[in-house]
Amino acid sequence: MSKPRVAIFDFACCEGCQLQIVNLEEEILDLLTVVQPVEWREAMSDHSESYDIAIVEGSITRPEDEARLKQIRERAGILIALGACATLGGVNKLKDNFELEDVKRCVYGEAAAMPHLATARVKAVDEVVKVDFKVHGCPINNKEFAAIVRCLATGKTPVIPSYPVCVECKKRENVCRYEYQEICLGPLTRAGCNAPCPSAGFWCFGCRGAVDEPNVNAARDVMARYGRTVEDLKSRMLLFGSRQEFANV
Ligand code: SF4
Ligand code: SF4
Ligand code: SF4
Repeated sequence: MSKPRVAIFDFACCEGCQLQIVNLEEEILDLLTVVQPVEWREAMSDHSESYDIAIVEGSITRPEDEARLKQIRERAGILIALGACATLGGVNKLKDNFELEDVKRCVYGEAAAMPHLATARVKAVDEVVKVDFKVHGCPINNKEFAAIVRCLATGKTPVIPSYPVCVECKKRENVCRYEYQEICLGPLTRAGCNAPCPSAGFWCFGCRGAVDEPNVNAARDVMARYGRTVEDLKSRMLLFGSRQEFANV
């Protein structure tokens, strides 16, 4: 059986998630036993218009990006959104807090009026095309990425955690950041990263997006127990939360 052909594309982002793939090092050789890369600007010079799996990193920030993304979608049997920029709009969504013309002036100065410097409201990939699977995080967890690709290449459905980061955090026996009078988004955020931030003494800032069914009552209880308000919690959702819908919190 021939190996699925895989192409990796990037839109607006820092390419840190692709770097995480490169950081797999010798594990990439294992992946090459189950997939055939045919386009990957960061690692090879080949191009192809024929692929089975498209992996898309970055968010959609310009009008012309949408046409390119739709073309990629048409050619791919499976489309994977890679990293928070692609799955949530990521840090790029911060742009949407400002007027577009102000943003352009800030970035380009007097050149902002040049017609080719178009910009638009930021969209996650699934705001433009259908996404089949998401690899969450900023950056992604490259082991999780490898497991997802291996599953898809062998006809299995990847299991993406639908429980909160707190589960992994507690397994690591961390002292909860709330005990340090901090606010942590772990109760509302999708697990799969193995809670590196609380394990290193930081609160979770929600880079993997909302868990499927956030337990908002539990979040309210935690807030109340530590003398915090729901507004305190929402104030921590700004970095990756400009689009996350914790509407009932
Ligand atoms: S999700 Fe984070 S690491 Fe990945 S490309 Fe976007 S900004 Fe970079
Ligand atoms: S709230 Fe944060 S620190 Fe506390 S258990 Fe959950 S993930 Fe860990
Ligand atoms: S702990 Fe939170 S912020 Fe840190 S990697 Fe996991 S989801 Fe992202």
